[in-house]
Amino acid sequence: MAEIKVARAGVRPRESGDPFSAGPAIVFDRVGVSYGRGAKATHALVDFNLRVGTGETVALLGPSGSGKSTALGALAGFVRPTSGAVRLNGRDITDLPPAKRGIGVVLQSYALFPHMRVADNVAFGLKAQRVPRDQIGGRVAEALDMVGMAAYAKRLPRELSGGQQQRIAIARALAIRPRVLLLDEPLAALDAQLRQSMLAELRQLKESLPDTAMLYVTHDQAEALALADRIVVMNNARLMDVDTAENLWKRPPSSFTAAFLGGANLIPCTVGRVIGTSALVTVSHKTVSAEAPQPAVGKADWAPGARALLCIRPHALRIVSLGDRDALRASVNAAMWRGAVTRLVLTLTSMPDQLIEIDVPGHVHFETGTEVGVRIPEPAGVLVRAGS
Ligand code: ADP
Ligand code: MG
Repeated sequence: MAEIKVARAGVRPRESGDPFSAGPAIVFDRVGVSYGRGAKATHALVDFNLRVGTGETVALLGPSGSGKSTALGALAGFVRPTSGAVRLNGRDITDLPPAKRGIGVVLQSYALFPHMRVADNVAFGLKAQRVPRDQIGGRVAEALDMVGMAAYAKRLPRELSGGQQQRIAIARALAIRPRVLLLDEPLAALDAQLRQSMLAELRQLKESLPDTAMLYVTHDQAEALALADRIVVMNNARLMDVDTAENLWKRPPSSFTAAFLGGANLIPCTVGRVIGTSALVTVSHKTVSAEAPQPAVGKADWAPGARALLCIRPHALRIVSLGDRDALRASVNAAMWRGAVTRLVLTLTSMPDQLIEIDVPGHVHFETGTEVGVRIPEPAGVLVRAGS
């Protein structure tokens, strides 16, 4: 299969390591978008603020309907903000027509023109930008070469596979040499295996475009983790959290992010003694130590006696014998084999409403209703604010 090429003539690495040294490439300044009016209005984006640096890749990650495509559309010019402004390299582009923004856009549906050959599809944005005719052929060839599709210039979209069509959509976006590239669920329509290989190629593409800011919309956390320098977690038209993938994963600032990014058990607990970034917490009469992260701004919420959530990933909990005195009692609701691990869903005896999930290596059989002990290894968990 053809591959997206890594190298691109004329691309130099950024001189400074700081993607904000020349100011942000993309700014969302308190952007609000409502569809419809009055009582029937849908508030698809509320007070959305984000700055993306030059060459930075930021993923917008969230469930379906959380406002990701609306945010992307506001920047691309497909959606008109009801309030606020979008800026590109310092320039307010809120009222500029889409074709004048110089932004490359790739959509899940590819949106290729079915009656146009590949080369004409790729040339489309160049013509809209009034690039001189004698330069268009070379620019199209360059873009097709970048996605490994130079041999397909004369084909019609229907003569290509889904993955090939997506490459053409990427070539069309790159042909205009955009400073900003927007991708909206570009891999969602591809089968799982192709998605993996395209993901690896998009990573290479990102590395070959060190001066291009990328905004990547996805509902798939694996794509966000693989591609993004930073992740914006969205829910209900709002930005919930924004940070590097590693920080969001290790110290989720909210219970939503803890659950959405990788899945997590969020077990109610009471905070005891706090020393620096470590706390003793009580989970139904058992006391364990946990990480108590300090917020970047504002005051920590970990006062002794406070209610909090102990965030523990499913692979970190251990099933032990019922006789283990440090263990919590639980009963098995379901055991689902997932290949490398078996996912157990259990109910804690002392908190009958609290389901917890544990991944046990291999293919393990448990009868529903089996009583087991659950051990919280220390310090396995990290505190998350209750009600966040
Ligand atoms: P996402 O991309 O995260 O799935 P969207 O930005 O597409 O979410 O949609 C956010 C919300 O706005 C949803 O509730 C959706 O139904 C609504 N919405 C999106 N586009 C329109 C539209 N053109 N007219 C009315 N409502 C819309
Ligand atoms: Mg969408």
